Order: sequence, then structure tokens, then C-alpha cells
Amino acid sequence: MSVHTLLLANAAELLTCAPSKGDPLGKILNGAVAMRDGIIVAVGETRDLLARADLEGAERIDCSGKVVAPGYVDSHTHVIFGGSRVREYALRLTRSAEELHSLGIPTGIAASVAMTRAESEAELFASARDRVLAMLRAGTTTIESKSGYGLTTEQELKMLWVSRRLDQDTPLDVISTYLGAHAIPDGIAPEKYVQQIVGEQIPAVVSQGIAEFCDVYVEDGYFDPQQARRILQAASAAGLKLKIHADQYSRLGAAELAAEMGAVSADHLNYTDTNGMEKLAEAGVVGVLMPLIDFAVQHPHPFDVPAMRRAGLTLALATDLCPGGWTESMQLVIQFACRSYGFSLEEAILAATTGGARALGLHDRGQLVPGMLADVQIWNIPTAEDLVYRLGNNSVETVFKRGRWAAGREPQSGRN
Ligand code: ZN
Repeated sequence: MSVHTLLLANAAELLTCAPSKGDPLGKILNGAVAMRDGIIVAVGETRDLLARADLEGAERIDCSGKVVAPGYVDSHTHVIFGGSRVREYALRLTRSAEELHSLGIPTGIAASVAMTRAESEAELFASARDRVLAMLRAGTTTIESKSGYGLTTEQELKMLWVSRRLDQDTPLDVISTYLGAHAIPDGIAPEKYVQQIVGEQIPAVVSQGIAEFCDVYVEDGYFDPQQARRILQAASAAGLKLKIHADQYSRLGAAELAAEMGAVSADHLNYTDTNGMEKLAEAGVVGVLMPLIDFAVQHPHPFDVPAMRRAGLTLALATDLCPGGWTESMQLVIQFACRSYGFSLEEAILAATTGGARALGLHDRGQLVPGMLADVQIWNIPTAEDLVYRLGNNSVETVFKRGRWAAGREPQSGRN
């Protein structure tokens, strides 16, 4: 056989994440997956794949007693940022935001903007790369990465170039989102800043070709729906796909706006009502949920998964890794989604794989089926249920990105 083929065989459970009748995870017992040229070429029971002439001579990796699953797709992160807000986080364990303010300790987005502006592209890349590689070791093979701590044309472009470099210089795929509308920076009137976004930042981002999405933080004290509509219309006209930070702390109609604008995803949705959820579902907008940021900030209003389920909303789970809530682990996100928000194990795994891909408009990953990218993880646990049972565990043993070993234990192989 001239072309190199890799065969992961004997998996106790292989989760295709392609739903079949009565089985949302499309689980194959004693399963196998074959990869060639970065693409999945065959999936099925091990004995069937071993009998196939076209897979003869494949390099075989034994996955006995383990689970094989698609790489996670983490569709909402702020992984690039200067410094850290560890001091704020630690003080907030016992003190109020007002106390920190009176102590003169910078907090929130403004604190991260100052620290991000102060760092060079190389410094931002170095710290973000560490986080991205930790995500990879935790099974994530595709992430979205937002700008939004620059808030000037030059500084937003700096962040997006770091994002581009993360895509090029790490094994993961990094999808870039321009988030100049993350906050109104100090010293500029809101109306003037919206004009700068529409007239200067979006054209600069588009002309450099360094973002696929435009996102807006629609919230009291940030951007109202009218401002958001202008920004999103300009971005859409310039060829960017759309996302919205919607209804995290207030309900201004952001979910309805996401549906009206044809956004790919609406993210957070803590205060979204039934009408908003139904609009999102009708428009095919994916709802992105992030249980760990809500845990990190002790959010007072949990998002309502049963209502979203009733509305027929497609859901994705993401880390929201950011200076205010730092986790690289999609497994921990799944654990919280199941235990605290009423996700079933099957719903949570699908939301972390295919759901994440949908939230990025991607249809070539998130499932183990022939023709998809060979983004695959091996879990050192005997059943999928162990994923939510072993709290705080990193069950990931080995990660393949586009068919190549990318992280974790180097696989020991034999010949087929
Ligand atoms: Zn966010």
C-alpha cells in the first residue's frame, strides 16, 4: 500500500457523534477508525475494517479498553490576552466588585485591554500558545479565538495577527473572530467608537483577510441592538460571518437580532426568553453555552437548557476561556453541563463536537465519519459515561489532528 494509513482499532466504544436510530452518539462497540492524508477513510467494527483489502498494511494502534471520539470544537474563546487577572479573581472570592474598585484594583475588560495593549505581538503569542497547547492536550482540535482587548484599529489587528499565527504555528485550527465591539474604550464617545468600527476597523480587518467572524457584545452599558445592527450589517456586507454575545446580563433583544441578521451563533443566552429561543431555532442560529464562565463569575441567572431543548435550538458547549474565567478543559465543561444544567451525556458530547463545529459554520469535523477531517482523540476510560463520572480528570490520552499525532501519549503501533 503506497499511501500511509493509520488504523485505531479495538476501541471499547467508538463515538462517531453521527446520530443513528435510537443512538444519538452513533456508538460502535469494538470500533475502529482508519485515517489517511488527514481524512477519515473508514469507520466501523474492528473485525470489518480488518477484513477490508483497501486497509491492508495499515499501521494499527490498539485502543482496547478505551473510548475514541472526535476532537472537541471549542467555539467561543478569548484565548489571547495580556497579563492575567488572577489577583482580581482571588480577591473576588471574598470581596465585592465595589471593594476592589475602592482599592483601586483594575477589573474586567478594561483591565485586560490595558494589559493587552502593553504587550507585543510576540508576548501575546507566547502566552496564548501555552493555553492553546493545553487545550490540545485536553482534546480540543479546533478553537475560535476573539480579538476585543485592543479596541483601536492597530491593537485589534495586532490581536488578530496573533490569532493567525496560532493557527499557523500550532497543530490546532484557530478560527478568528473580530470583536472590536467588546466594550467602548475610555476617552471616546460611544457613537464615535461605533463610527470608527464601521468606517475604519472593519475595512482594515477585511482588507487584511484575518478574520472570518465579527462579534458584538450586546449588553447594558456596552452596545445596544441599534448599534449592534449597524456594526453587524457593515461586517456582513464586507463578507464576515456573524456572532453575538447575547443576553448574558440583560435582555435587550440580542437573540432576536441574531435571528434577524442570520448570525451563525448567539452566545451565553442567560436571559433569553422562549420567544427569543424559538426565533433562534427558526433561523438556524446555534446557541453557544458556557457553564464554566457562569461558575467562575457566580452568575445569578442560569441559562435554561430544558426551554432551549423545547424550542428545538441546536446547542454548542464552549469554554469561554478568558481572563475572567480560565479553563482549557472541554471535559470539565461537559461535566458542569450535565450535572448543573440538565444536559444528558449524549447531548453534552454532541454539543462539544458537532455543535461546536456548527457554531463555527464548519461541516467537515465534529464527527467520525468517512470524508471528515481526522481530528480524533483517545480517552483512557472504558466507557463514555466515565467522562462525566471522573470529576476534574483529563481523560485524554492521545490526540490526532488531521491524522497526525498532535498531543498526549505517543501511540505504539503495529502492522495490520
Ligand atoms: Zn465571550
